[in-house]
Amino acid sequence: MVHLQLDDIENFAKENNIPIMQKDGIEFLVNYIKENNIKNILEIGSAIGYSAIKMALVNEDIKITTIEKDYDRYLMALDNIKKFNLNDRINIINNDALLVDIIDTFDLIFIDAAKSQYIKFFEKFDKNLKLGGVVISDNMSFHGLVLDDSKTNNRNTKQLVKKIRKYIEFLNNNNNYSTTFIKQGDGIAISKKNNAS
Ligand code: SAH
Ligand code: MG
Repeated sequence: MVHLQLDDIENFAKENNIPIMQKDGIEFLVNYIKENNIKNILEIGSAIGYSAIKMALVNEDIKITTIEKDYDRYLMALDNIKKFNLNDRINIINNDALLVDIIDTFDLIFIDAAKSQYIKFFEKFDKNLKLGGVVISDNMSFHGLVLDDSKTNNRNTKQLVKKIRKYIEFLNNNNNYSTTFIKQGDGIAISKKNNAS
């Protein structure tokens, strides 16, 4: 029996300012997984397990490895995953993704962690993505600031905007991948790895 509802996790995230995926963003991701028959997923940035649970619920043979560096969030994610009886299909690792060595290969890598490190995550985990696989990156519009950052004067925010723009440029210039950007949620990049690279 699942007593905990996804709504409860969404509400908890909202109340505690935990930046889980936005509704239409996660719907897009879930549909993408369905339509492309994705089975093995690596997620960078679990937070409290919301997106991992949503993805795992698409189909019973989906397996997910997800990495979260914050210990408290990791514990909450673990608890949520257990409550959904998904602990045999979601493997959560408590560490900085840049310090973890993963040997498995995946159909999809979902990057939803520190925006300043996206290029590093992408380069590091490229070896873990199958040919023809896809990297999906969240927060490409960063509340609209990537298009127009005049709405903020915060230095750190402006720095992050710069980093995201760099990442977008990096994706566009990467010949081993074809990237499309969609406006759902907070902006999502879909980077398909070429079949021969
Ligand atoms: N994917 C989640 C939301 C993730 S929020 C969902 O939609 O439900 C981003 C998370 O990434 C935060 O919890 C943060 O602690 C984590 N994070 C940031 N940098 C990280 C890193 N280098 N390695 C692992 N986790 C990281
Ligand atoms: Mg996000």
